Amino acid sequence: MNGRRTKWGIVLIIVALLLVVPGPSVKATGPVAPKYIIIMFADGVGPGAFELGRLYHKHVLKKGFIITDTIMAAGNLGLMTTTSAESLGTDSAAAATAMFSGFKTNIGMIGMTPDKQPRKTVGEAAKEKGYRIGLLSTDAVWDATPGAFAAHAESRRDWASIAAQLLAIEPDVLLGGGRGAFLPKAAGGDRTDGRDLLAEFRARKYTVVTTAEELRRAPVGRLVGLFDNAGLSLDLDRDPEEPSFSEMVAAGLRVLSASPQPFIAMFENENTDATGHDNDFPSLMAAFEEFERGVRQAYAFYLKHPGETLLIVTSDHDTGTPSLTYAQRSQAHTASADRVYPKAEHLAVARIARGSVDKASQMLGARPTAADIQRVMAQIYPGLEMHERYQQSILRGEMINPALARRSRQGAFGLMLGQYTFVYWGTTGHSSMPVPVAALGVGAHRFRGYMDNTQFARILFDLLGGR
Ligand SMILES: [Zn+2]
Repeated sequence: MNGRRTKWGIVLIIVALLLVVPGPSVKATGPVAPKYIIIMFADGVGPGAFELGRLYHKHVLKKGFIITDTIMAAGNLGLMTTTSAESLGTDSAAAATAMFSGFKTNIGMIGMTPDKQPRKTVGEAAKEKGYRIGLLSTDAVWDATPGAFAAHAESRRDWASIAAQLLAIEPDVLLGGGRGAFLPKAAGGDRTDGRDLLAEFRARKYTVVTTAEELRRAPVGRLVGLFDNAGLSLDLDRDPEEPSFSEMVAAGLRVLSASPQPFIAMFENENTDATGHDNDFPSLMAAFEEFERGVRQAYAFYLKHPGETLLIVTSDHDTGTPSLTYAQRSQAHTASADRVYPKAEHLAVARIARGSVDKASQMLGARPTAADIQRVMAQIYPGLEMHERYQQSILRGEMINPALARRSRQGAFGLMLGQYTFVYWGTTGHSSMPVPVAALGVGAHRFRGYMDNTQFARILFDLLGGR
């Protein structure tokens, strides 16, 4: 037998197969609209935090991290700039307005330009095209990201109006925190106009649930689940009455996939941002474990409907700019033995945490003493010690460096954890890092490259227009 001829035969068969098997579903005739669009949104996550999530899953949890290993690796990867209209910095309101309306706006504004002109949102465009809507957040559902997906307000704090607009657009799924904005004061809520938006949802044939147990038993019809008057708890401090992010994603996908109609889902994990502000590495990793579980469910849905689904994993801005360091431990900068060499065992220190930095900060009380700090350290971080300098910053209520302003306790806990994990933070605020956007499936190729965050909305409008 002629080996060379056999080899060429195999090559010809492979080439023939490649010509027959359809590639990505891009037709020559105009844009192809995905029937299902799932946006998995990790608030406040820049490239550094995503990479820490990957390293932690691989080296500490000994698990794959589907976000980078599959969605980013096999999908299309882009980077988005995050500047707002008035600043080179941003908040979630201005960033989400850019991503869901295609216009830059000022910090704090929702779904409108700085001149207070409301701009059409991706949520509204989807509704016009017959898509059902799924909105979910671990924070209040009226907060910046879900707010800018479907509503308009001069201020993200205008929760009464945003909540009413979320009722008006009638999402099929609305899950998260922020119940107070939907209930009148008389019913234990915060509304002063007397409206009971949950009663109005019920009148429109919604099931309304308020606990994790009720969520698990909810039928597959239109669903509102609001599990706290404010935002939901951080993952290391979870109230068992509240569902986790991935439990909400499971319920959301169950409802949305029960009907053959198209849908667009925006599922936000806000805990990634909150833990960034607190420079709380263990809680950020716990938030990533939850986000990863949610993304796995979305990916499983994608695998069932690969020719009809667009799956996106992205963020709005970076918070805190966390990173492992390779640096000198002291000023004796000649000895390589004096260097920090971060390894898995250092990241694994995160597993010691029995609660969040936020909880530890609150447990200190109003005027903590050194004994209070020792007590909280023993309860939340057993076996770890806080450097005298960081203790002093807490006792005096002084910031350790200007980039950690207003959160002296969080900054001190963050630096304490950094001494063991070698994860250090640039700030307790947002940074100007670009954020990744990873896309898989129908229309995913459009998200490749370096882009402005307004481009994100324009691509979604284009894809929705294809229907
Ligand atoms: Zn933030």
